Amino acid sequence: MVLVYSDNKKLTFELLSKGSELSKDLGKKSTAVIIGKSDDTLANEYIAYGADNVFVAETVVDSFKAEEYAEILEKIVKETGTEIILIGSNKNGKELASRLAGKLDVGCIIGCTNIYLKDKKLTAERVVYSGNAIAVEQFNSKPGILTVSSKVFDPLKKDDKRKGDIVKKKIETEKSSSKVLKVQEAKTEGVNVEDAEIIVSCGRGFKSKEDIKLADELADVLKGKTIGCSRPIAADLKWMSEDHWIGLSGHKVKPKLYIATGISGQIQHIAGIRDSGVIVAINKDADALIFKSADYGIVGDLYEVLPKLTAAIKDKMG
Ligand SMILES: Cc1cc2nc3c(=O)[nH]c(=O)nc-3n(C[C@H](O)[C@H](O)[C@H](O)COP(=O)(O)OP(=O)(O)OC[C@H]3O[C@@H](n4cnc5c(N)ncnc54)[C@H](O)[C@@H]3O)c2cc1C
Repeated sequence: MVLVYSDNKKLTFELLSKGSELSKDLGKKSTAVIIGKSDDTLANEYIAYGADNVFVAETVVDSFKAEEYAEILEKIVKETGTEIILIGSNKNGKELASRLAGKLDVGCIIGCTNIYLKDKKLTAERVVYSGNAIAVEQFNSKPGILTVSSKVFDPLKKDDKRKGDIVKKKIETEKSSSKVLKVQEAKTEGVNVEDAEIIVSCGRGFKSKEDIKLADELADVLKGKTIGCSRPIAADLKWMSEDHWIGLSGHKVKPKLYIATGISGQIQHIAGIRDSGVIVAINKDADALIFKSADYGIVGDLYEVLPKLTAAIKDKMG
């Protein structure tokens, strides 16, 4: 069986697409796990997105605590004879996966970019050395635990006619030794670069924070309205919040159109944009690395190119 869990619904849909592929290859079923209150609407959505079954672990645990969630998953894994466990690679998921691996005394591969069976062995690929190499790894133990970030796999097309079993079971856990004292939401500007279809992104080629409005204006006429940035803009200069930060240590994006302005194209930035549909680069240095990853390149000063491009698109789009 292939077990799929994430506390993020969209990410679970994406994992289910890979989960159902692997379960077919194994000749087994895929099961999505819901932890907490029973939620038939969510369970049916998981079935519509590819789960053969849904296991609802009804528990009194009301908020995420890695040790309790790991114990719950451990019990489900032991009960169901799971062979592969796919977990969403967000902050909670990574902690959960590694704890679960410790409990089950099995291997765990974090941040997989591809997963498949090779010679019947569960195999995963992940990006290493800041995106300069891809490690291909196999498990020596079972079940194999793998985490996957959002946007790595496309979800299956929703099919409301799909049928599946929803199994509900009360699961009790040992009282946790840790205590959550306060939950504070991270301050965000409500920007979601990960779901944006068009992104205009800014790099160190901008001379001041005020100049970012040039990128804003282009994003506006493209009806994209989403601005991204390279690490120095968010981390060093703090001209934008981390919501906008794209790359290896920032957000991974998958827009239809990505316009990189004044960005040199270092491998750590490319790691976050490589799945974009079309990449356009604007850079005054004809030898800038970004042009190697771009589908279209404009060699020129962004202070001249951006206003002209914005005006031309405005003209074209009426
Ligand atoms: C572990 C690690 C993780 C990292 N993670 C990330 C990450 O997640 N995201 C990320 O972006 N970086 C990341 N970095 C940093 C990365 O290596 C680069 O330093 C960074 O991407 C460079 O940002 P930049 O392209 O904006 O700046 P620069 O490299 O300084 O490039 C600026 C570019 O602007 C061009 N330019 C200058 N003036 C103009 C103008 N007037 N018109 C047009 N073009 C102009 C220049 O020719 C140059 O190519 C990471 C680094 C490490 C070591």
